Amino acid sequence: MPTNDLEQLVQHWVRPEIRSLAAYHVADAAGLIKLDAMENPYTWPDQLRDEWAAMLRDIDVNRYPDPLASGLVPQLRQSMGIPDHMGVMLGNGSDEIIQIIAMALAGPGRTLLSVEPGFVMYKMIAGFCGMKYCGVSLKGDDFSLDMPALRQAIDETEPAVVFLAYPNNPTGNLFDRDQIVDIIESAPGLVVVDEAYVPFTDATFMGELGRYDNLVVMRTVSKMGLAGLRLGLLAGPRRWLDEFDKVRLPYNINVLTQVSAEFALRHQAVFDRQTEAIRAERARLTDALVRLPGLTVFPSDANLVLVRVPVGRAEALFDGLKAAGVLIKKLDGGHPLLADTLRLTVGTAEENDALLRALETLL
Ligand SMILES: *Cc1c(COP(=O)(O)O)cnc(C)c1O
Repeated sequence: MPTNDLEQLVQHWVRPEIRSLAAYHVADAAGLIKLDAMENPYTWPDQLRDEWAAMLRDIDVNRYPDPLASGLVPQLRQSMGIPDHMGVMLGNGSDEIIQIIAMALAGPGRTLLSVEPGFVMYKMIAGFCGMKYCGVSLKGDDFSLDMPALRQAIDETEPAVVFLAYPNNPTGNLFDRDQIVDIIESAPGLVVVDEAYVPFTDATFMGELGRYDNLVVMRTVSKMGLAGLRLGLLAGPRRWLDEFDKVRLPYNINVLTQVSAEFALRHQAVFDRQTEAIRAERARLTDALVRLPGLTVFPSDANLVLVRVPVGRAEALFDGLKAAGVLIKKLDGGHPLLADTLRLTVGTAEENDALLRALETLL
């Protein structure tokens, strides 16, 4: 093996900003109760599985998928309440949509702006696409928007695009609506409101589309219970979406995803019942966590609960939970505002009970 030559080749040709990155790490969850990634813990009833399998039997995979996903898009429009006069573009997960937007807007000196702690893919994708990244800190006490800092950062960097997750990940809170409107009105470029957690809240900017030339809304079916399908969408003025669509690879939504998502959304009631159960469990889990000694529990509109543990205990609690068979996300060690915090995904009643029992023993 020509290791020296190989190393030199890689060093020479792979861009330095890529070489310096750590690969996105996904924890091994084998055998563990998985409360680390905001997945819906419920699976499909047997009858629905049978119907789905029967439908897949008739799909021909020798053909390329419909590049316009013409069966799926009307179903998504209806399920997600997308205004008729707005365009829709699909992505292989909303992660791909972030990438498409960044590729279309990147250029020398162009900035992608977001808030921190926030969704890490915004920063990573800005890096991949050669954009500058500006992460404005949230307020330390409640993770709300720091408006003076944001206004100043927007003035200074004139961002091509601002990403705001609503509700935010990893903190779970909803930012103040009027403050988001303020940002939309003061941003010189595009503002993407990322509504990945919309199944767990009643708040949305979908109804504001068209009111602002620079507003688009991003959604995904991942958190409602279809994370394995990889399907996200962008809704907004067609003028923007027509440009983004030029960057999108023509067959980015595979045929199995198209028919499976369309099928699933025709049975929306099943998923609504599941997300209702998750919301109820979120309330129960939150109440139980508040009663445990030493925890600060932050209010959440998502299917996650952020907790601050006693100083210096995050790592040990994470390890202890894992030893007890429960995988969560340790946020401590990332952003300074996340010191001593853990992120708990809301699971089934049984999973949440296992988490609570283990935490009670460890605290
Ligand atoms: C999970 C998540 C996404 C990614 O969704 P995919 O559609 O699965 O790629 C996007 N934004 C936020 C804020 C998320 O937490």
